[in-house]
Amino acid sequence: MKNPAAVRRAIVLLVLGALYATPAAIAFIRQWQPEPIVAGPGVTKQVMLSDYFKGLRGTPGDTEVYILEGREPGGTILVLGSTHPVEPAGLLASVILVENAVVKKGRLIIVPRANKSGYTATEPGQGYPDRYEIKTDFGTRWFRFGMRNTNPIHQWPDPDVYTHYASGQKLAGAECGNLNRCHPGHPNGRLTDKIAYGIYQLIKQENADISIDLHEAPPCRPLVNAICAHERAMDLSAYVTVLLEEQGIKIRLEASPKNLRGLSHREWGDSTDTMALLMETTSPMHGPLHGPATVDLLLTAKDDVYVWASKLGRTVQKHTERGVPIEERVGRHVTAIMCYAQALSEMNPEKGVVIEGIPSYQEFLKNGVGHYLKPIAE
Ligand SMILES: [Zn+2]
Repeated sequence: MKNPAAVRRAIVLLVLGALYATPAAIAFIRQWQPEPIVAGPGVTKQVMLSDYFKGLRGTPGDTEVYILEGREPGGTILVLGSTHPVEPAGLLASVILVENAVVKKGRLIIVPRANKSGYTATEPGQGYPDRYEIKTDFGTRWFRFGMRNTNPIHQWPDPDVYTHYASGQKLAGAECGNLNRCHPGHPNGRLTDKIAYGIYQLIKQENADISIDLHEAPPCRPLVNAICAHERAMDLSAYVTVLLEEQGIKIRLEASPKNLRGLSHREWGDSTDTMALLMETTSPMHGPLHGPATVDLLLTAKDDVYVWASKLGRTVQKHTERGVPIEERVGRHVTAIMCYAQALSEMNPEKGVVIEGIPSYQEFLKNGVGHYLKPIAE
């Protein structure tokens, strides 16, 4: 070697590069590992979404489906968490149901990670944490935070313009990775279309009477603390808003727009017999205005920037210094699902779904989410 000093310098640079890159690579790869979910006492069967549509088998879009079946026949309620993996209350509400619910009559089907691919990365430039912990009675449980869309390495490249299969509606290219613009999906489409098609097949093959898509929205969006329901789910949803009000939960009811295509509450209702709806709680984390995207913001929704915007009248939902703690957001989703089961049972007893083992809204507020999470076996 002619220049030993240059070789030494190159080796030092390589070692320094490896020192920087290794922790980043480890942090990046750990996002591919799904958080543990404990099948609770009510889970009678666990299958995969690919059992409804084989085209998903072996893809990053395949995901767990938990079935909780009662001894007495009745109706079927489907709950979908994590259409958008940047909205943690949907995942946590689904996990609480899987780990605690015991169904006496009818069936509850839960897909906690509807867009599982979206958990394998976070959005570039947003500074999002890739996971967070929830304090429990025995220690902590960890959960991932992901991106709004399907991970682009699983579906690349985006077109300039995204055309929705069923309607021909045109949207910005990146929306082709947004699960809630791809319903009812297509068996030969991109991965997100295939996930949507798997969910459509699940609803059809399991004859879901009610299908619920769980979301969170920042306070500046029009649809916050609200239910958006297909016209066939309107009567039932109106009754649910009354039941929720009795428990101290104020929720708005909106009609699913007929011309806005690709959304769960529209397409599931139009293409199957299910009563389709979407529910939103509040989370500033993925809004356009929020302060630093920390785990604290994710769990408390305390955000000075949104408080300021709210005081200026720039938010739809009033946002105060109090924030909206995660137990309140998860409690709203879970309580609303329980109210749908009650409403279905009262309005159509043959199709009733009776669920036990779920804490009340007040118990969520008092004890927190972690109190209802199960320990992970070593
Ligand atoms: Zn959403």
